[in-house]
Amino acid sequence: MRCSEEIEKKILLKRKLTEFSFDNMVKHFRSLIFDFPDKRTGSNTRYAIEDAALGAFSVFFTQSPSFLAFQDAMQKAKGESNAQSLFGMQKIPSDNHIRNLLDVVHPSYVFPMFSNIFNGLNASGHLNVFRSFNGNLLCAFDGTQYFSSKTIHCKNCSKKEHKNGTTTYFHTVVTPVIVAPGNNKVIPLQPEFITPQDGHKKQDCENAAAKRWIRQYAPMYKELGITALGDDLYCKQPLCVLMLEEGLDFILVCKPDSHKILYEWLEEFEAMQAMQTVTEKRWTGKTHEIDTYRFLNQLPLRDGDDALEVNWCELITTSPDGKILYKNAFATNFKISKNNVKEIVRDGRTRWKVENENTLKTKGYHLEHNYGHGKKHLSYLLLTLNLLAFLFHTVLEIMDDKYKLIRDNLPTRQTFFDDIRALTRYSYFDSWDAMLTFMIHGLELDVPDTS
Ligand SMILES: [Zn+2]
Repeated sequence: MRCSEEIEKKILLKRKLTEFSFDNMVKHFRSLIFDFPDKRTGSNTRYAIEDAALGAFSVFFTQSPSFLAFQDAMQKAKGESNAQSLFGMQKIPSDNHIRNLLDVVHPSYVFPMFSNIFNGLNASGHLNVFRSFNGNLLCAFDGTQYFSSKTIHCKNCSKKEHKNGTTTYFHTVVTPVIVAPGNNKVIPLQPEFITPQDGHKKQDCENAAAKRWIRQYAPMYKELGITALGDDLYCKQPLCVLMLEEGLDFILVCKPDSHKILYEWLEEFEAMQAMQTVTEKRWTGKTHEIDTYRFLNQLPLRDGDDALEVNWCELITTSPDGKILYKNAFATNFKISKNNVKEIVRDGRTRWKVENENTLKTKGYHLEHNYGHGKKHLSYLLLTLNLLAFLFHTVLEIMDDKYKLIRDNLPTRQTFFDDIRALTRYSYFDSWDAMLTFMIHGLELDVPDTS
């Protein structure tokens, strides 16, 4: 690294993420790119890889697969482009360039962005609204398959061999996110990829990936008080024991089929009428629904003398004519009482929000659209940059008054990104702030005072 670059890096790193403007976050991201490996040698390699990383990120951030093509056309026609003014790119890289340069970059180079932003949000008090039962933050774990193909594959693909001799290649990732009941914002943390592990014959699985994540990151986050949320797949003794050892609380879906012993005990207690119950009538605005909470503490999670004791609760919601509208049960390490059962169930259910609203699954982030799959890390890195773009969007919704105002005044998230796509295609803005101000004027809103 050249001396001037070293100084520039120090300046960038000194700029701690306490101010969450778009520009500041992009600069922080650039400081991480300094350390990206570059397989080429010679001058200007640093800028090339920086442009490649910022270029891929810009496509996810703007939700526009054609962003770079449009900016390239603008650069040629006007001598300036939004790729340069908004994202600080020196040159607009081709898709081929991006693919080739980024394939060697392991996604862990980007991971510090997630903890830096999280820590900054915490330091500035913005995580307080996410606090839930016991004052904890809820961290929902969920596995997402984000790629599947019968032909395209890389060395990190998981694979399933079919009886007819064909193979399906796929990629799955565990994406832990901070969620809160009644809050539509989701803060993604570092992802953990499900991938063939060195020295392991068995295929990797979601459960093992969650364990790796917990071992690596629980020490970083546990001081804040974390409740892990997960589906029935996570409600297994080794994972629960690990969570407790690593200082995490948990509220996990606990189904009868996979917890036979626990449910046998429940039946016995039920027969003895030892089950505790809380019933509540709830007005939905149209009709009265009845929530019946049942709970019991200290039940064995599995068979055997060493079985972990967990506390169990259930919610059944019925309509006035007795029809079951909702039924789910959870195991937790929190001691359940009549006073807290409602909150514990509410927290456990918050995970569904992630499954239903998971932006990566439902909102059409354009993964791999431009760049293909790569041979080494490309697929991982693009997923990570995509998550990072999602994180930027969440942070801007929390911190950027102008962004918030525009989002609140446009009917959908899709409208917002359609507008960004069109605006950045046809007009040049010398800064992010200038673009938002232009939109606010166009919507005939008052520009918030951000001084
Ligand atoms: Zn692959």
